[in-house]
Amino acid sequence: MRPFFYDRARDADHALQLARMPDARFLAGGTNLLDLMKSDVLSAARLVDLNRAGLDAITETADGGLDLGALARNSDTANHPLVRRRYPLLTQALLAGASPQVRNMATNGGNLMQRTRCPYFNDPAFPRCNKRAPGSGCAALEGFNRSHAILGASEACIATHPSDLGMALMEKTEMDARTGRAVNGNLAEYHVPVNADVGGIDIIVVDETDPYINSLGAKGIGEIGIVGVAAAIGNAVYHATGKRVRDLPITLDKLL
Ligand SMILES: Cc1cc2nc3c(=O)[nH]c(=O)nc-3n(C[C@H](O)[C@H](O)[C@H](O)COP(=O)(O)OP(=O)(O)OC[C@H]3O[C@@H](n4cnc5c(N)ncnc54)[C@H](O)[C@@H]3O)c2cc1C
Ligand code: SF4
Repeated sequence: MRPFFYDRARDADHALQLARMPDARFLAGGTNLLDLMKSDVLSAARLVDLNRAGLDAITETADGGLDLGALARNSDTANHPLVRRRYPLLTQALLAGASPQVRNMATNGGNLMQRTRCPYFNDPAFPRCNKRAPGSGCAALEGFNRSHAILGASEACIATHPSDLGMALMEKTEMDARTGRAVNGNLAEYHVPVNADVGGIDIIVVDETDPYINSLGAKGIGEIGIVGVAAAIGNAVYHATGKRVRDLPITLDKLL
């Protein structure tokens, strides 16, 4: 690990003042940043410790919402009575992450700002990673990319964002009813199943010529085979929970 200066911020203004110094980084729970510094993925000339800056409160807002302090721990946020009562999906998302020990240290701000889990980014033994070494290329494009993005990616980087908290707070595709297109079309931080998640696929083409469907005359049976799947899953969810969900996707919030 390289040497660095360490400063403890008194409050938010002090933190911002310290962060203006060259090559400074905020330190919260340290569960992501310190690992990356130890393995030489990231370095900093100065760490600005936010833990005593008084940013850990969870308070109700005037319009009935909740203000989650950036330094509130993931476990405190998940177990806060107002979060449990009003935002159970947030509690579930937080408790799905890491382990109790990590959640006791990890903060809301740090969770949202954590770096990608792309293995090429996290291991300097791999020389090619544009995110770690700009201009070096992206090893994931042709390498191990099972958990990477297939939508919203760029030629420079296909990494996804790993935060469970971020998923619960931010993921929703809004459709434009006039055009049927996604309005928030940037899915760079969205985890979706990729080809590698599907396993083996058999392609069966019906052994007869169909002069109507296309000029090749080929007729596949894929769509006929899968039209019932969503309905079958919907029925299974109904039998398991007693809740009938009539619009897709069937997400946890529709069952609560
Ligand atoms: C074993 C293990 C398993 C994990 N599994 C999961 C998982 O399943 N799901 C999941 O979501 N996460 C998981 N994580 C990641 C974990 O949630 C993050 O490490 C943690 O949330 C980061 O929070 P922190 O407070 O420790 O941040 P730090 O490590 O202190 O900081 C992380 C980054 O955020 C910046 N930062 C911190 N606070 C602020 C702020 N207030 N303003 C601006 N920038 C800030 C820092 O400068 C740094 O770049 C796992 C981690 C470990 C070690
Ligand atoms: S997807 Fe490519 S550029 Fe992005 S973090 Fe991984 S290796 Fe680096």
